[in-house]
Amino acid sequence: MIKHHPSETLLTQYCSASLSASLSLAISIHVDMCPVCQAKAEKIEASNAETLFSTKLDALEQTTNEELESLNESELNFFDMITADDSIDEVYEVEPVSIKVNEHNYQLPRALTRISHSKFTQVGKLARSRVALDDGALRSSLLHIDAGGEIPEHTHTGFEVTLLLDGEFSDEEGKYVPGDFIWQDGSHQHTPLTKDGCLCFTVVSSALHFNKGFSKLLNPIGNLIY
Ligand SMILES: [Zn+2]
Repeated sequence: MIKHHPSETLLTQYCSASLSASLSLAISIHVDMCPVCQAKAEKIEASNAETLFSTKLDALEQTTNEELESLNESELNFFDMITADDSIDEVYEVEPVSIKVNEHNYQLPRALTRISHSKFTQVGKLARSRVALDDGALRSSLLHIDAGGEIPEHTHTGFEVTLLLDGEFSDEEGKYVPGDFIWQDGSHQHTPLTKDGCLCFTVVSSALHFNKGFSKLLNPIGNLIY
């Protein structure tokens, strides 16, 4: 069962479309996998819609006949055009997309099927593919860890979102299942490791800081993960 969810604040921002593209994508993948957050998001969206429509109606009631008459013909035609177009209501199925990483097959989350990603770059047991989102300092990736792999203990100056898509991994806090949404910032440090291997979606806002060993030797891993 999924135990780790995005915060209420993140969900609310997601529903009012005020999140950056990378975070919005992470929440959208989680919501697709998590019935609990799906129900919460529906509730927030319904209440957003209610607020929006009640303010629009208030504004309309205050519109005088004169103002309505002053709308010229092309503006009126424009409204007709929008309401006459049924194609915007069409729902189409997205074909599932599979990817292969080191002989393992994975099905991509629905939200990722129409966004391109780079080839996987491998360093030891870690492999990373960059998701093509132009989102400033925020970098989104698919991160694959082979069975028995681990990421050396590290912290962040910014934050790191890890969304487990397939397989399992654990850290000092316990074991994670697919759908778990883990938010880490500078106040956390962790050493994720996987027994059987896993595929994650990650959003990282800055380079990693390794706490032990020679960070110079770990730089290739840090560069791979950011
Ligand atoms: Zn959830």
